[in-house]
Amino acid sequence: MAHGRTTARPACALDRGAFALSLATLAVAVVLLAAADWGTRLAGDSVIPGGPLDELAHLLTALIVFWALSSRARERFLVPALIASVAIDVDHIPDRLGVDWLTVGTPRPYTHSLLMIVVVVAAAVTWRRRREVLLGVALGLGIHFFRDMGEGGSGVSLLWPFSYHSFQYPHGVYLAAMAVFVLVDVAVCAPRWRQWALSRARWRPRAPQSESV
Ligand SMILES: [Zn+2]
Repeated sequence: MAHGRTTARPACALDRGAFALSLATLAVAVVLLAAADWGTRLAGDSVIPGGPLDELAHLLTALIVFWALSSRARERFLVPALIASVAIDVDHIPDRLGVDWLTVGTPRPYTHSLLMIVVVVAAAVTWRRRREVLLGVALGLGIHFFRDMGEGGSGVSLLWPFSYHSFQYPHGVYLAAMAVFVLVDVAVCAPRWRQWALSRARWRPRAPQSESV
C-alpha cells in the first residue's frame, strides 16, 4: 500500500490556475500592487503609463480582497468582479476625447457612483440566470470605488445624482486597509502551508545513524 506523501502545492481551498492563492502568488501580487500603486502616483494623470498601471492596481486590489473571502465567494463572483474592477474605467474615454457630458460637476464620470451598483444589483434581482455574474460585477465596482476614493486628489461622487459631493480619504488609509486584507490572506494560507511543510519534513529520507560503540 502506497503511503500518501503530500506533494501538492499548498494552494488554498479549491482555487486553481493563475488566480490561485498561495503564499507565493500572494507575495507576487503584493509586490506588483506596490509597484503599480507607486508608479500610478509618479505617472500622475497621464494615460500612458498612468492608465495601465492604475488598472493593474485595481485588478490586484480586487484579487487580494477576494482572496480574503471564502472560496465559495471566489468561485461565484471572482471572474466578473475582476473584469468589472477594471472595465468600469472605460467611462473615462469620453472625457479623454473632450466630451464631458458624463462628468459635469463631478471628478469622475457619473457611472462612478453607488447608483451604478444599485442598477447592477437590481438587474441581478430580476435576471436570475445571470444573478451571480451581476453580483460579481457589483462587488467589483464596489472594490474599484474603494481604491478610487483612496487615490487622493479627486475622490468619487458616490451619491450622484443626489449630491455632487466627492468622497475621498488619504492614500494611507487605502494602504492600511490593503495591509489588513493581505494579513487575512496570509492567515488563510498559513495553516495549509505549514501542513505541506510538515508533510515534506516527515517524508524526508533520514541520514543513517552511526552505530554506538
Ligand atoms: Zn475609476
